[in-house]
Amino acid sequence: MRKDATIPISAYAVPTRIAVATLRAALTQFGIRYRTIRGTWGELTEIRLADVGAGRGTLEIADRDFSLFHGPDEHTGWSIFSRDEHRVCLSNPIYIAGNGRTVVGCAADSFAAAAAVAGHIAAYQAPVHGPLRPDHVWEECTGPNRHCKKAHRQGRTVHIIPAAFADSSHLVLPTNHYTSEEKARSAVAYARRTAAIITTNEQLYEARRLRQPYRLLPGWIDPTRR
Ligand SMILES: [Zn+2]
Repeated sequence: MRKDATIPISAYAVPTRIAVATLRAALTQFGIRYRTIRGTWGELTEIRLADVGAGRGTLEIADRDFSLFHGPDEHTGWSIFSRDEHRVCLSNPIYIAGNGRTVVGCAADSFAAAAAVAGHIAAYQAPVHGPLRPDHVWEECTGPNRHCKKAHRQGRTVHIIPAAFADSSHLVLPTNHYTSEEKARSAVAYARRTAAIITTNEQLYEARRLRQPYRLLPGWIDPTRR
């Protein structure tokens, strides 16, 4: 993890022929070291937690067919599983997208998967009662998804991803784009103090409808991703 939270996103927007190149670019943008290995069932991108200062064991990223080298137009979503130092898989995926059949946007999925890894590392590194890890800020974000492009056109050029809370819960903002870094940081600070913890689908839909920030506890999976 970089200490400096300002990372240019430009390299990320370069079109790539294979899905894993997009994933690698996203991981690199977050300053996450990785390697590609052949696992028990196929190819996967592995992050050794010791390499990133987040304990022991590994995170493994692949699609549901254990493929990395497919085209972005065949991409059906990344999943991320954590394993302990004995390579025992630890329960639920820390991230999973799509249904394994329908094509999902490779750029946005890779970005979200890398953000999930960054959040996982940040949560490990944050002391329970200590200061939060830095948030990730891009000063000029024009991608990867259409919301970014639109916000940038409207003058909201700064993209912020809040670091996870110390208990690994995630802060979700009604928008990640702001007109300045200062505005982005103050919006996140305010949201951290006020965000409601989501425990039911109804609370989630209500928070989204009202465009309020909310907090998702670890293991609570957004129903649109279940
Ligand atoms: Zn953006």
